Amino acid sequence: MTSTGQEPSIFTRIAAREIPATIVAETERIIAFEDIAPQAPVHVVITTKTQQYANVVELAGGDPGLMAELVAVAAGIAAERANGQFRLVFNTGEAVGQTVFHVHAHLLARTGPGTPAGDSSLGEGSLAFR
Ligand code: 5GP
Repeated sequence: MTSTGQEPSIFTRIAAREIPATIVAETERIIAFEDIAPQAPVHVVITTKTQQYANVVELAGGDPGLMAELVAVAAGIAAERANGQFRLVFNTGEAVGQTVFHVHAHLLARTGPGTPAGDSSLGEGSLAFR
């Protein structure tokens, strides 16, 4: 259980190293790891270590500084891996595909120079906007 009395989310358990993941960036309050089911050449989940916010609306209202930190981490990963050009998706609500109710962004991007032609799809599957 967490300090808020909730069961730890899957992302809290990844941050605690209870569930393995490929972690790509970490700060005191943010953690980023490869999505287990990537839907773009670069697909990184970026989340807050606290699970107190269920979605981006709650996070932006409750702790705008932490929201800004999450975006800065996204930009840093994209600068390293995707020439700084990226899409940031916050699924908000079950009806649009949110499955983990612990705020997180999907960083979706093409890889940098040298990416083979054809390896450039973004946002397929549940992240495509249909
Ligand atoms: P949502 O559908 O809530 O917007 O996004 C949840 C994301 O978490 C999905 O893209 C899913 O593939 C990813 N995910 C769920 N469980 C795990 C896991 O155990 N490890 C990793 N690395 N990603 C996960």
